[in-house]
Amino acid sequence: MKKKILMMATGGTIASRPTEHGLAPAVHAEELLEGLTDLRETYQIDTLEVCSIDSTNMTWKHWLKLAECLEHHYQNYDGFVICHGTDTMAYTAAALSYLAQNLGKPVVLTGSQRPFGQQITDAGRNLRDAVRVAADPRCRGVQIVFNGQIIAGTRAKKVKSFSFDAFTSINFPLLGLVQNERVIRYLEEPEREGGPVFYHNLNPKVFLLKLTPGMQPQILEPVFREFDCVIVESFGVGGIPDSIAQEFFRILNRYRPEEKILIMTTQVTYEGSDVNVYEVGRRVKEKFRFLEAYDMTLEAVLTKIMWILGMGKPEFDEVERLFYTKVQFDSYAPEAGGESHEWTE
Ligand code: ASP
Repeated sequence: MKKKILMMATGGTIASRPTEHGLAPAVHAEELLEGLTDLRETYQIDTLEVCSIDSTNMTWKHWLKLAECLEHHYQNYDGFVICHGTDTMAYTAAALSYLAQNLGKPVVLTGSQRPFGQQITDAGRNLRDAVRVAADPRCRGVQIVFNGQIIAGTRAKKVKSFSFDAFTSINFPLLGLVQNERVIRYLEEPEREGGPVFYHNLNPKVFLLKLTPGMQPQILEPVFREFDCVIVESFGVGGIPDSIAQEFFRILNRYRPEEKILIMTTQVTYEGSDVNVYEVGRRVKEKFRFLEAYDMTLEAVLTKIMWILGMGKPEFDEVERLFYTKVQFDSYAPEAGGESHEWTE
């Protein structure tokens, strides 16, 4: 019996053609598979056109739609490939990791830096590798396969604009490699007890506030008024600068912690945050209950809180419990059972 793979197309460079206005998605899923005739002899590959967009235009609604498609077709296939633009692929991979949990089958996102059909392109290789991983029963859950690397869906980040090695795994090892179309697993994933769990809501009222040195505080009032959660992307291990501190504390004092979820994270790509280290961070900790990203990627933090707040208006204790519960390798925070770091002299 041939393994059954469902390839879901969403657009992106991999499906783009040059137009007089620049590259735009135009290639259908079936056309993408034209170069994979040998794989089609080994696997039954069906296709589904979910959308045809530049991933710049992906929204939380597309994430829900993709999760819905996975749920709908889950029992009929052994694995899934999602062709996606690279620009927001890491967000989609993280979102799907929360919307489709406890998967016993692979869900593989891939795309390319250069369009399918061009003389020099990474499209064919990435697509072939993705199908190999999607057909491998050891590869459970959501992952990105790109340039031969297998990256956990909650740990991926796009780090290069043009090169083929566009993605990396942040604060976590690669799950494996695809070499000469052979899947090599570095990390064994545990067998999943029970069936898959799909979720159907996200709360998009989450704002990312990136701090800049000497930032002025006027933006804080509308941001905290309009959004249910504010993720503060701070400097280094984390803190609130004097230039906004007074206004920041004044506004937050108006709310109960579950009314405005505050998450502290860092602009530094590797090694994460620890707000407890410096006075500029600890003064926040002494005043408010908030969440901290620690070693999570921004993509995972943003989509995880959208998923948690999509469950209605949970009490802060429940938000905290869910946020620090590890989902698909997303966190090694002390609160999630990881090791805490002691700062000694
Ligand atoms: N702008 C494209 C997209 O994200 C880039 C790519 O796919 O590489 O859809």
